[in-house]
Amino acid sequence: MDKIASPKKTKEIIEEYQFKFSKSLGQNFLIDKNILEKIVEAAEITKEDWVIEVGPGIGSLTQHIAEKAGKVVAVEIDRNLIPILEKTLEAYNNTEVIHEDILKVNLHEVIEEKFGKKKIKVIGNLPYYVTTAIIMKFLEEKVPMTSMTVMIQQEVAQRMQASPSTKDYGSLSIAVQYYCQPKILLKVPPAVFMPRPKVDSTVIRLDVLEKPRVQVENEKLFFQIIRDAFGKRRKTLVNALSTGNLSLNKEDIRKAMEIAGIEEKRRGETLSIEEFAKLANHLAKEM
Ligand code: SAM
Repeated sequence: MDKIASPKKTKEIIEEYQFKFSKSLGQNFLIDKNILEKIVEAAEITKEDWVIEVGPGIGSLTQHIAEKAGKVVAVEIDRNLIPILEKTLEAYNNTEVIHEDILKVNLHEVIEEKFGKKKIKVIGNLPYYVTTAIIMKFLEEKVPMTSMTVMIQQEVAQRMQASPSTKDYGSLSIAVQYYCQPKILLKVPPAVFMPRPKVDSTVIRLDVLEKPRVQVENEKLFFQIIRDAFGKRRKTLVNALSTGNLSLNKEDIRKAMEIAGIEEKRRGETLSIEEFAKLANHLAKEM
């Protein structure tokens, strides 16, 4: 099959359907088949795999996935792309396009209906305006999946993979690392997209852990403590938590920190995910 992803072919399709790129939907289509091959390689797709693709655009990445996977379901929000996808993907009978907003769709229902009980893989060149919301939806809703291989802004990928005491470390690093092992795989320049985005992009693979990285008594409290700690990242943890949304009592915080083996002077940005878990579990007992 001819590849959709070349500058010439993409231009032809755009002209034939008089398609207008929507900036607000984060439409930057890939026009380099080598990059597409690398994304699919990174996801380690075989005929045994069932894949959800987020945001197929005109089908450039979908085509590469369809050639390797058992089955692909691609979810696209833009109704103007649906007739284009029907045409560009017509040769692939293992592929189905759903016209939906990925943030609103009931993922468990879609997966149950289209794939049954098997764990899936998620792939996407994500729309940059909602990268984090999309990834967190799949993780927080505990979608049955083994990995997410996604193209995102470089800066967001670095935050996802960051370690304590670095400038990129924050609540996103912990939220992602709680559920996954992240691995940055590939840096991608703006030149391989049409139109070109303003930022550099990165392919990151998130391997979903069998169970969360740390055992937490109360997930809601754990994540609120983290948000409070990083909301005021220049303050010590005691000050950040006592003036944050949880309005915890300083004495309770000091006591929980001592039992968790965390020095009183530490700032939140220096705590590992394991230390945050210990602290949250001790605070949960005191509340
Ligand atoms: N996969 C194509 C490619 O690599 O060339 C297109 C990628 S483009 C960066 C992002 C795609 O996501 C666009 O097709 C856009 O319309 C779609 N999109 C944006 N927001 C979405 C949402 N909330 N749900 C589903 N698709 C969305």
